[in-house]
Amino acid sequence: MSRIPLIAGNWKMNNTKRETLDFLSSFLPKVENITIEMAICPPFTDLYAAAEKLKGTKVKLGAQNMHWEETGAFTGEVSPLMLKEIPCDYVIIGHSERRQYFAETDETVNKKIKSAIKHNIAPIVCVGESLAQREEGITIDFVMTQVENALKDIKPEDAKKIVFAYEPIWAIGTGKTASASDAQEVIGAIRNKIEKLYNKDVAEDVRILYGGSVKPENIKELMAEADIDGALVGGASLKPDSFYALCSFNL
Ligand code: PEP
Repeated sequence: MSRIPLIAGNWKMNNTKRETLDFLSSFLPKVENITIEMAICPPFTDLYAAAEKLKGTKVKLGAQNMHWEETGAFTGEVSPLMLKEIPCDYVIIGHSERRQYFAETDETVNKKIKSAIKHNIAPIVCVGESLAQREEGITIDFVMTQVENALKDIKPEDAKKIVFAYEPIWAIGTGKTASASDAQEVIGAIRNKIEKLYNKDVAEDVRILYGGSVKPENIKELMAEADIDGALVGGASLKPDSFYALCSFNL
């Protein structure tokens, strides 16, 4: 088993093309010594410019969403063919903000995952409970159902290509991080679930990230947990210095 850690920045609706290029001008010269995998996920409008600037560097590129269809009458949507041509290595799927504000469901998440895999774009699939669900004591059941629904009718060799991100909704953008042991508990349960659905080989290969107020101050503690393979980072990925501090956590 050798899962390469991944730190991915989810920029959400932040950074114009100019700001993205300025970020990369400052960030890229720093990353020569980084040994883990890094990715940025800027808004759609920045992807082409970012891809040009990232050519020949170690930093991968991801989108924040996509439609599952290749073409068609879906005004305002972006297809996997479009992302592939940029090219994007990753696409975030089912972020809690997409589920909450744009009515994404486990069913659409499953369709998007299948489509991303078909087009050779690695999906970063977000799952996580609300504060009310945590307080009700149903975190594990809820997250396991999200994982099972996400993986519906996906073959083992394709399941291995998925990156999961466990992001408790109450920890996103709030400054409240799940403790490393709470994050490990849920992420360990996700790995066990994948083993039950497939086998140990798939479970050992799938990378599972933690997301929710990850900062340079807490990354080491999170990464020390056995099943946490990296982080999906919002706020702290927006400044080159703090994103570099995260990516260099093990140096
Ligand atoms: C996110 O939106 O995926 C996220 C984890 O945000 P933040 O790091 O700001 O909590």
